[in-house]
Amino acid sequence: MALKVPHCARCSGACELKTLASVSAEDGPLKLTLLDLPVFACVKDHKAPVHGDFMIWLIHEIRAREAQIEAGREEGMLFKKHLCGACGKDLAAKSEGRRVYPYELKYEELAPFKVQIDMPLYKCSACGKEQIRSTRDLHGRVPAAMVGINDDAGFPHSG
Ligand SMILES: [Zn+2]
Ligand SMILES: [Zn+2]
Repeated sequence: MALKVPHCARCSGACELKTLASVSAEDGPLKLTLLDLPVFACVKDHKAPVHGDFMIWLIHEIRAREAQIEAGREEGMLFKKHLCGACGKDLAAKSEGRRVYPYELKYEELAPFKVQIDMPLYKCSACGKEQIRSTRDLHGRVPAAMVGINDDAGFPHSG
């Protein structure tokens, strides 16, 4: 697929491909940062994603990597308990720090860019392994964080 360089939806000016050095957003425990993000921008600096489905694609790409992040298990319908993914014992109630999980992404023929998934870590009370509390903790936050990314990048609301 060759990228089609559009005209700006807001001012009809000619767009060109640019990169945003850093765009970030948070939702609950999740902080997402995109580095060197490719975007279209016009001379008036109105920005747009490089494709109409780009943000959805991004959500899928991030979620495709969540299984690589060591996580605990969530138990209980009413009173949530978080257990170590390795040994099954209780995770500490409070997080002891955060970790950034960096990944490189590439959209079509564009230059690669980076996504950083930043989450709090919880230590297992028994084996000492640090991990995020649950994959769900991350999974469920990605769309809302992406709305924040959309806004921080200056993209119009669509879809
Ligand atoms: Zn414009
Ligand atoms: Zn453990």
